[in-house]
Order: sequence, then structure tokens, then C-alpha cells
Amino acid sequence: MENIRLRFAPSPTGFLHIGGLRTALYNHLFAKKMGGKFILRIEDTDQTRFVDGAIENLISSLEWAGVTYDEGVFVEDGKIVEKGDYGPYIQSKRLDIYRKYVDELVEKGHAYYCFCSKDRLDNLREEQKIKGLVPKYDGLCRGVSLEEAKKRAANGEEYVIRMKLPPNKDISFKDLVRGNITINTDDIDDQVLLKSDGFPTYHMAVVVDDHLMGISHVVRGEEWLPSTPKHVYLYEAFGWEAPIYVHLPTVLNKDRKKLSKRHGDVSVEDFKASGYLPEALVNYLALVGWSPDSNQEIFSMDEMIENFSFDRVSKTGGIFDRDKLIWVNSHYIREKSNSELIELTKPYFKDYYGFDDKFFETHSKWLEVLMATIKEDMPTLKSAPEKAKFAFEDYELETDEDFEVLKGEQVPTLLKALKSNIAALDKLTFEDAKGLMKKIQKETGIKGKNLFMPTRIAITGNSHGPELANVLYLLGKDKLIKRIEACEEKLGV
Ligand code: GLU
Repeated sequence: MENIRLRFAPSPTGFLHIGGLRTALYNHLFAKKMGGKFILRIEDTDQTRFVDGAIENLISSLEWAGVTYDEGVFVEDGKIVEKGDYGPYIQSKRLDIYRKYVDELVEKGHAYYCFCSKDRLDNLREEQKIKGLVPKYDGLCRGVSLEEAKKRAANGEEYVIRMKLPPNKDISFKDLVRGNITINTDDIDDQVLLKSDGFPTYHMAVVVDDHLMGISHVVRGEEWLPSTPKHVYLYEAFGWEAPIYVHLPTVLNKDRKKLSKRHGDVSVEDFKASGYLPEALVNYLALVGWSPDSNQEIFSMDEMIENFSFDRVSKTGGIFDRDKLIWVNSHYIREKSNSELIELTKPYFKDYYGFDDKFFETHSKWLEVLMATIKEDMPTLKSAPEKAKFAFEDYELETDEDFEVLKGEQVPTLLKALKSNIAALDKLTFEDAKGLMKKIQKETGIKGKNLFMPTRIAITGNSHGPELANVLYLLGKDKLIKRIEACEEKLGV
């Protein structure tokens, strides 16, 4: 197929949901793989649901995630701008276009004016519900002639325009994930296409825009599958070729329920704030609903583009496993350089310990060692200050299992040697820290477990933790002496 063109068409109703990001990502991957174009269109025909700032937020979330596009709506210098030859790309700016096509459908007999009041429609729905029927418009206004309808409209009577489906006609289309789908028009409602406020409904606007914007593949969430026959019918009514459809399985949590706020983060903003790296989130998200044909789990964007295909997208809901995401995130954190990690974790350290910029300027070497020490076991950027607690916060030696280790007969000698060696230094450099335990071993003859375990417990209160030389350096001379003395006091030696 020539001219591969895909689009992501969110409604600006709030933050970008993680499921929306995955839809955008798959569009991006496929467009890039095929050398096509990817477009961002804003679907704001339901003005009652419009949220201020939502367009900017959607765009900044896509940008953060590295999901780039070629045409459509962008933000530049804080302003919303549009780029491309198929604009406007914001639906509320296209009302005249929709009106023209709605009129065309009316003239061709594929749509009709409907003057039914809200009361009548509510009663109808109630009656149908009581009878156990699926609520559906009964077609009353199909009988109003076009001439009369136009007169009534010209007289100011309120109306909507509805799609006029032929009875008992099978509508078929092919979905690249779901296969062939056929639905009979008897099971479809006479969908409203133009609302009384002059705005089109989503169904009308999406068909007109996808056609006029030359969209070749419509890739969207499976919640739109039931609407697709209506769209396919409209393509037929206009005499246009329908795009290829791809409906993606819903992103579910482990209980196979839709991902909701109650179960933790759901918006891209939330994940960002919780300290996930964009490359980790996007990498993991690609695997929710798509599987590569190898066991590979870590993918760069370029590798995803190379490997992506719709025939490996599953029909059933993709499970969003937060533990797996953390595993992927830790991987990308370990891959970062220490200086990158200092920058990335800075806001969290500032927040947690109240550090100012000065602290970061004067402690750069120390922070590098800190990052090297904690990054091996850092699930999120946000967890960094907690992981670094041993270096900042004093601890109380508890009389637990670890304390028993300190009762070893070699411990008083060990503590004394540690203290005098550290006290003899001007300042404990990283080099000093790396050589310290060897020196103590030589001096005291204490080695192995008898040397390292009590040292670690005495200075951190814990028998496990990061590389001991790093810990010694990070704590520094004064803290170490203070902790060793506190330990001696507690032991009464
Ligand atoms: N505006 C719809 C949404 O917010 C997009 C549906 C589509 O892609 O056709 O999900």
C-alpha cells in the first residue's frame, strides 16, 4: 500500500491514560516501520467533556515518552500550533467541513432530520428497557419528508441528523487483530451524526477526518469495535474506501479488570511522577498486548520499530503487571550513568531531604559514588532517597539478631582499630575507603565474615547492604567515628 498514514486521535478530556499511550505507541511503531506518517488529531467534538490544558498535557506526555509524530497538533513556546497539509487537525475547527458532508448524506438519502424531543426519546428508551429490548431509536422521523424537514428546521425547530441505515443489511469489515467481522444493520441504531448544537458526533467526524486526512490504518482501542460497522457504513454511503482497522485489546490489571486509579498509577503523568523512566515505560507497555517472536524483553525504540507487527498483537486483554514494569525500570536505571542519575533523582532528593542546588554543586563526587552504590537496587527514581537513607539518617542499634554478631570476642579490637585508623585521616577519601578493610585485616588479623559483618552492622545497623567501601566513603570520617563510638557504648567496651 502506498501512503501509509496513521493517526492517534485522543479527546482532550484529561490526562493521557496508559492505554492511550500504548495506542499512540503502536501507531508510531507501525508508521515508522512502514516509512509512513503519523498524525496527532484532537477530537474535541464533545465540548461538555473538554478539560482546559488537556491538549498541552497529552502532547507533553507523548513527548516525554518519545512517541513522536509528523503532523497535526504540537506545542511550541507554550502555544498550540498545527503543522501539515491536512489541517485543521482540531475537530472543533472543522465544523463547516462536517456540515457539508452531513448535508451530502441527507441529500443522498443516507441521513435524515430528527425532531424528537428529549422527553420522547427518554420515554421510548424506558419502554424498550421494560420490554427487555436493546434501546434503539424507533425511526419515527424517517417518515418526515426532506422538504418538510428543511422547512421545520428553517423555522427554528430544534433537530439532530441521524444516519439512515437500510434494513437487514450485513456490514462486514476486516480487522487485522480480530479477523472478519459482520454485523447486521437491524442490530445498529440510527446513530446521531450532527447534534442540535451544530457539532458532529464522534462517528461522523472520525469518518470524515480519517478519509480527508488520507488515513490508511485506524489503530485504536477495542472499545471502538462496536462503532466500527457504523463507520464502515458511512464510508459506503459516501462511496469512499474504508481504512484498514486494528482494534487493540484493553490494558487490564492482574485481576483482568480495566486499569483504574484505585489500583495505582494510570496516567502517564502519574508514572512519570512515580519515577519511571520513559524508555522503561514505553518498552514495557509495548509488551502489554504485543509479543515479539523471540524471548527478548528489553527493546530500544528502534528495535521495537524493527520488530513490531500487528499479527503478534493478541485478541485478549493485555495484562499490565506492575512488578514486571519495575523489573524493566530497574534495568534502565542500572544502565544510566551516575551523573545522569544524579540529575534524574535530584527532584526526589530535594523533596525528601530538602536539599538545595548548592548541595548538589558541592557534593558531585560524593553523589556519583552514592548513585553507583544504590543504582543496583533501585526500582524507581523516586525510591532513590530511601535507598540512600543509610548515608543521611542516623540509626539506632537494635538488640536483634545482628546485635548478637557484635558480641563476638574480636569485635572490641576491630572497633578500636577502625576508629583509630579513621581518626588518623584528615578526610576519608574514596581511595582510603577502598583500602581500609585490608589495612584493618593486616593490623588485627581479623578476616572474612568476622571482619566484614560486624563492621557493616556497627556502621549501618544492618548486616546487608551495598558495597562496604562505598558505604564507608559515603558516611565519611565524622559519621563513622560517631557511629563506632555509639556502638562501643552500647556494647560497654
Ligand atoms: N477520540 C477517540 C478517543 O478519545 C478516538 C477514537 C478513534 O481513534 O477512532 O478515544
